[in-house]
Amino acid sequence: MVGGAWPYANGPLHIGHLTALLPGDAIARYWRMRGADVCYISGSDCHGTPITARAFREGVAPVELTAHYHSRFTKTLERYGFSFDRFGSTSNPEHIAFASDFHRSLASSEYVEDRDAPQAFCPRCAVPLVGRMTVGTCSRCGSTSRGDQCSSCGALQDPATMRRAVCARCGSPVSVGTSRQRFLLLGKLAPRLREFLDSRAWPSNAVAPTREYLQNPGDLAMSRSIEWGIPMPGLEDKTIYMWCEDMLGYLSQSLALDPAGFDELWRSPESYHYLVFGIDNLLFHSVVFPAMLMPGGWHLPDQLVCSEFLTLGGRRIATSDNWALWADDIAAVCSPDLLRWYLLAHGTLGGTADFTVGGFLDAVDSGLPGMVNRLHLEDRIIPDTYLEETFTQVGDAIAEGRPDRALRLIEDFIFQNPTAHALANLAVLLRPFCPETADRLGAQLGVGNEKWEPVGVPSGEANGPIFDMPDARALHVLEARATSKEPGPVVPFNANTLLPSGSRR
Ligand SMILES: [Zn+2]
Ligand SMILES: [Zn+2]
Repeated sequence: MVGGAWPYANGPLHIGHLTALLPGDAIARYWRMRGADVCYISGSDCHGTPITARAFREGVAPVELTAHYHSRFTKTLERYGFSFDRFGSTSNPEHIAFASDFHRSLASSEYVEDRDAPQAFCPRCAVPLVGRMTVGTCSRCGSTSRGDQCSSCGALQDPATMRRAVCARCGSPVSVGTSRQRFLLLGKLAPRLREFLDSRAWPSNAVAPTREYLQNPGDLAMSRSIEWGIPMPGLEDKTIYMWCEDMLGYLSQSLALDPAGFDELWRSPESYHYLVFGIDNLLFHSVVFPAMLMPGGWHLPDQLVCSEFLTLGGRRIATSDNWALWADDIAAVCSPDLLRWYLLAHGTLGGTADFTVGGFLDAVDSGLPGMVNRLHLEDRIIPDTYLEETFTQVGDAIAEGRPDRALRLIEDFIFQNPTAHALANLAVLLRPFCPETADRLGAQLGVGNEKWEPVGVPSGEANGPIFDMPDARALHVLEARATSKEPGPVVPFNANTLLPSGSRR
């Protein structure tokens, strides 16, 4: 199972989403080429307060907003060659039914407890305040923070306890009462979670913050006092916290895809699970999700693939700030495979990176695409053992969740062997990363490239450049447009269908 973090359906996909998700596609494609039975899952995350806040601002129902972005997501992801076996939505009836059943059964566990908890509400708006419906001061770093999570330091927040909390809508200081909520007892689970962490060979950027958090985790409220979500079984007027139901989508969509194989995938120790996401979602994947799975004896995540932040003009890319390069805009002026190559080779698995069009064009020119396009081919045959070793090393790097390292190995291989035989093998090696380019090259050379194994000398020749080069001027224009403004409210979302113009609030 390869699970790609569910993009949040409150804005179009940008290069930050692609950076975090692409490693999962390379992993899924690689294992399919190895003959594995792959289940590659993701979907649109449709619940929670950022959706209701955005829908309120746009004057539409939350369900209209999320349906619009879900349909855009599927088109954008297809354009970029994502090979999901199923791209679902947390609004799907099968997901809602699964999440309800899961929580009904989790509620009887010794690690779950219902109790009265402080609840923030706005005296003027007369509504309970959760997550981003409040703004206040982060108790860890002191910066101004949203009520769900501090965007400066990543600390989770609770509107009822955060300092100087005010209603995001009207600015009134919050009042605090109590409300019955359901808690996941992370404190009680901590010894098991620490043992689990020690049993896994996760990357260091996932291990260090997880270990720190597990020293003293607070219990997590799995229910929320908002209407837009999946009702929490047994707790009237409460819905399931979005982070306690969206990740169940990895299970609900596996079940919808293949009911007969579900138990083997999610109950057996034999299966292998990757979770692929951005670092701001780390603790949900490394702590909360395993903690929810443990009481029911489900298969726990094996490997985490955690991308760090991609910035634009030195600033963190964020849909909510309208600070982004949108995936669809880039695809109009640059081959999606080329951006796939760049974001996989120069992504953020090893640390934060800044995206600039200049840096992208330089990398394309001096890296694998430019080099391959300029090759003067020699006739030399590459020995079998050398080829097999290359396939093993590249494959191992992908399987460990490091496509960036795999692409460096491929680049070295071509650089050291500028031959027609190497080019034929490139049609195979490149397929997890740049599927369209690899298939076109394979067809031109007369090479079968569907299995992860070395091939012989090609019968055909490449005609024309192997990589399509981008429209550099158009890319610079996009970048200038994206970074010339002050970050501000999200772009109007009514690009086409939903709202007659002028009806927005
Ligand atoms: Zn208010
Ligand atoms: Zn903070």
